[in-house]
Amino acid sequence: LVAHDLSPIDTLKYCQNEKVKGILTDLGGATSHTAIIARSLSIPAIMSLYNISHTLKPGQRAYVDGYKGIVTWKTNKEEKIQMESLREEYLLLEENLLEFSKLTGQTNDGDLVSVKANIEITSELNSAIRYGAEGIGMYRTEFLFTSKDRFPTEDEQFEDYKKLLNTNHFDEATIRTLDIGGDKIKNLNVEESNPALGLRGIRYSLANIDIFERQLRAIFRVCAEEEKKIRILLPMISNIDEIIKANEIIDQTNKDFMVSDFYTIGVVIETPSAAILADEISNHVDFISIGTNDLLQYILAADRTNENLSNLMSYYQPSVIKIIKQIKDNVGNQKYISICGEMASDILSLPLFIGLGFNELSMNSHSIPIIKSAMNELSSIECKEIVNTCLDCKKASEIEEILRKFINDKILKAKNLMKYEI
Ligand code: PEP
Ligand code: MG
Repeated sequence: LVAHDLSPIDTLKYCQNEKVKGILTDLGGATSHTAIIARSLSIPAIMSLYNISHTLKPGQRAYVDGYKGIVTWKTNKEEKIQMESLREEYLLLEENLLEFSKLTGQTNDGDLVSVKANIEITSELNSAIRYGAEGIGMYRTEFLFTSKDRFPTEDEQFEDYKKLLNTNHFDEATIRTLDIGGDKIKNLNVEESNPALGLRGIRYSLANIDIFERQLRAIFRVCAEEEKKIRILLPMISNIDEIIKANEIIDQTNKDFMVSDFYTIGVVIETPSAAILADEISNHVDFISIGTNDLLQYILAADRTNENLSNLMSYYQPSVIKIIKQIKDNVGNQKYISICGEMASDILSLPLFIGLGFNELSMNSHSIPIIKSAMNELSSIECKEIVNTCLDCKKASEIEEILRKFINDKILKAKNLMKYEI
């Protein structure tokens, strides 16, 4: 599928068709929702190719190496044979990686870090289970809200959310309330010149209480029926008032169901304001999750969908590492804290999350086996040391180099299987 640009909704729609084997776009960044969806559906995708939609002609054959980010076309016979054998190699690699799916998310000195799946649609549950997810760390519900030309009814949501808990695999699941706006779904009733800074996430839910309540009612019905826990995750929080207001609506809605034993409330820390207020915020909720995709976008003032900013949007920017450390320190050890942005699946960032003491990493299912495997080869003590080394660095390139060397030295088993370069 070759396009100038693809919206997350179109990506989801087209990729249900088995004929789509790879995605190439001129625009888009690695943490855009389009890239996240492609990753979730295990479809190799390369974005930011500038002019690929004009370069490739309809019907032309191309090979997409999603591991290396290389697209090849006009291949001669010999190159074709090479590409086909590389494809076979990758398929074998995928099979081998599955061996790691059965591991427990823990370090080699016994610290547990739960490795969970982010999903966009409930049909991804099978791959979450297949790749060894230890739970659903975040269900992004916005795609359910756009699957029809109207928002889903309470019954439709109930039927959908129920699937999360009746798999027999998971005792609890995390449902993130509607995060409309930004680059995922344009806000239908409001024209916004800058949707990334607009009526997004909780702001939308609090401005449309009927829609928020309908979603909560569907969640509480599942709690009542399944008698298993649902973690409710509130996106795009930027101040305490929003949490207090949301909690009031949640309490009020719960009065019809009386299921307070079966849900907990958490927030996504993904705005600089929430990061600064993390200690106060944690007093109002049961758990915290850091949404690194948006946190990077807002900390670095860099649009996550802008293909020209991919160097700036580095996970290893000192400001990014420092803010994540500050959030963790401010939250302390009293509240459960996870990472739910794409950075959770970045093998180089793994030592930082372990060293900082995160309880959970939630990621696209496909990355789970390799992260589990790498985690099992790392020790918390060494990871703590590397965090301190990185905090002393002034440049992203230095941090990246230190982490790369650390991972290359420590991770032997996982690296042998990962044919692609770390
Ligand atoms: C994030 O911002 O990191 C996140 C998890 O949410 P989303 O990518 O859906 O904005
Ligand atoms: Mg976000």
